[in-house]
Amino acid sequence: MNNSENNSDKIFSDDTHLIQSFADLNNLKQSIGRLAITGAKGVYVTDSEGKRYFDGMGGLWCVNIGHGNADVIAAVTRQLETLDYFSTFFEFTHPVAAELARKLATLAPDRLNHVYFSNSGSVANDTAIRILHHYNNLRGHPKKKKILSRVNAYHGSTYLAIAMTTPVFSQGWDAARDLVHHIRCPKREPDEMNLSDADFIDILAEDMEQAISKIGAENIACFIAEPIMGACGVIIPPEGYHKRMLDLVHAHDIKYISDEVITAFGRLGHMFASKEVFGIEPDIITTAKGLTSGYQPLAATILSDEIFDVISQDGAAFLHGMTYSGHPAACACALANIAVMEREAIPEQVRKTGKLFEAGIKSLADLDLVKEARASHFMAAVEFNRPSGAPDNINIGQLVGDAARARGLIVRPITDAIVLSPPLILSKDQIVEIHQILHDAINAVAQSQF
Ligand code: PLP
Repeated sequence: MNNSENNSDKIFSDDTHLIQSFADLNNLKQSIGRLAITGAKGVYVTDSEGKRYFDGMGGLWCVNIGHGNADVIAAVTRQLETLDYFSTFFEFTHPVAAELARKLATLAPDRLNHVYFSNSGSVANDTAIRILHHYNNLRGHPKKKKILSRVNAYHGSTYLAIAMTTPVFSQGWDAARDLVHHIRCPKREPDEMNLSDADFIDILAEDMEQAISKIGAENIACFIAEPIMGACGVIIPPEGYHKRMLDLVHAHDIKYISDEVITAFGRLGHMFASKEVFGIEPDIITTAKGLTSGYQPLAATILSDEIFDVISQDGAAFLHGMTYSGHPAACACALANIAVMEREAIPEQVRKTGKLFEAGIKSLADLDLVKEARASHFMAAVEFNRPSGAPDNINIGQLVGDAARARGLIVRPITDAIVLSPPLILSKDQIVEIHQILHDAINAVAQSQF
């Protein structure tokens, strides 16, 4: 590239060098729909034109403590000045990675005490599968490799994680599909709306049992599940669902991986949701996002003692490694982020303010355009009816997302729905303001002519 082309006015208007994630590259090539965020503070972000928005997505389900926290920034800076980088390969270690691993072992459920660090939720999930496959080889079960996942799951976009993700995210792309079988998720079909939770869970358990008997428990390594399914629209399971699924898979010697990439670090009012919110102790927890509140890329795969004992037995080599596993700056960032959460009692706060946020979202269900409004603490989705006359190619979620953005709130549109996952530090007044914006945006779309 010629230097004279490197003109800051042009960076966002016609840049085709940056390939964006899950984007319509053809639209972006023509500069359709791109929004450049250039600054952030607290619960707000600012775009390249200087317009301020509520960060209704918390970055991407991750900026839990809010933007620009001085303590976290100082901790990362200090760490870079002390030890910028060294690997955790072979015999090498460093204090900050060891300290964070110990901290996570303290916060995670009792049996989960061993932590492998990576840089993204996708890789944390791939790591969990690689380790379980190796574990089964070591136990003399080399065929026990298949993965049970669920329709509407999102587990990331590496070659393996995208295969565990619901297939709609990889249409036209390849994935390691042979390894994965998708069972039902806890989203009710229209004819199941009046079932009791217990009857609905029975149906889901039956679906799981059928999959196990078809594939054969001797061929299945694990079941992977988000406590609340995020990317496909905040699908909240009925009480008792996860416990039933865990008991079922354990009865077949199948491990349970809880993908807490979104739900950990305060989003549901606790540091981890598996045990405190859903009453289960999985065999593996994967997490990322809120671990550093997004200030540094970091993810963790947290293993039970039992799995660790097998993979650390005499003669078992751990042939898995990433240059940046346990990166000092990322680990220092996570420790500082967790310290902020503990000092400011953010999870406890979320149990109060998150409930206010949840109630406000649920009240949107009174609007005609709203089909369903779902929320648990600071995870929320609003699903829309399609107004009569709306052309097939119109996405109502996108229209509401655009209307909210015009009013100063960024949310994430999905098909005929929007999802929200704001920073956990919203004040009561800010929560009311966000609900008012949503209310106005939804009404504006309801009143538009199609
Ligand atoms: N798992 C869940 C539940 C997620 O929501 C995501 C990302 O949104 C991932 C895994 C993948 O994480 P990453 O994008 O950091 O690879």
